[in-house]
Amino acid sequence: MHEQAIEDIAESDLVTRRGTFRAVAFRVDGHEHMALVHGGPDLSEDVLVRVHSECMTGDIFRAMRCECGDQLDAALDRIISEGSGVLVYLRGHEGRGIGLVAKVRTHVLQDEQGLDTLDSATSLGLPVDVRDYRPAAQVLRHLGVRSVRLMSNNPDKIEALERHGITVVARVPLLVPANDHNVGYLTAKRDRLGHDLPQVDLFSNAADR
Ligand SMILES: [Zn+2]
Repeated sequence: MHEQAIEDIAESDLVTRRGTFRAVAFRVDGHEHMALVHGGPDLSEDVLVRVHSECMTGDIFRAMRCECGDQLDAALDRIISEGSGVLVYLRGHEGRGIGLVAKVRTHVLQDEQGLDTLDSATSLGLPVDVRDYRPAAQVLRHLGVRSVRLMSNNPDKIEALERHGITVVARVPLLVPANDHNVGYLTAKRDRLGHDLPQVDLFSNAADR
């Protein structure tokens, strides 16, 4: 199988409010991504890893309609508290790969017609999920990481990483509390995409009381 190589790569220390990471910027297939590496030097087996899909509205502007920003925070906090781990931040993943403009277009349908995160995409003729996780596997291999404990609620992500040669020895749940703004999104991900999100029940039960 032909694999698109890492086209360019550079790294430096990155001091953040949480602590110091090794910032590894790399380009695959025209997209520039980043891996943040903490701890080491031997990060090869059972490494705590988050593969995070870019979400400008959630990650940067802290929108409450999805849980991306909170998941990003929780993953970095966990890496710091364990003392080592890797966060791979993948670009080109907006709206599960449809792009930023199309994602915002789906928000209109969600707000005005009550469509969920899947139906709002398909009704525009767009795919539900076209994210490519290969760049994450490539940079993990470059870093010498062979097996990971993956912080995710998404079984598809585990399958995708394994398909690209990274062994997932465990899944570490990354559960962000539900709220009035994200509960519809979380419910659709749980019921229609198979994500493991037990906190949605807790929120719904509390709301029923
Ligand atoms: Zn998001």
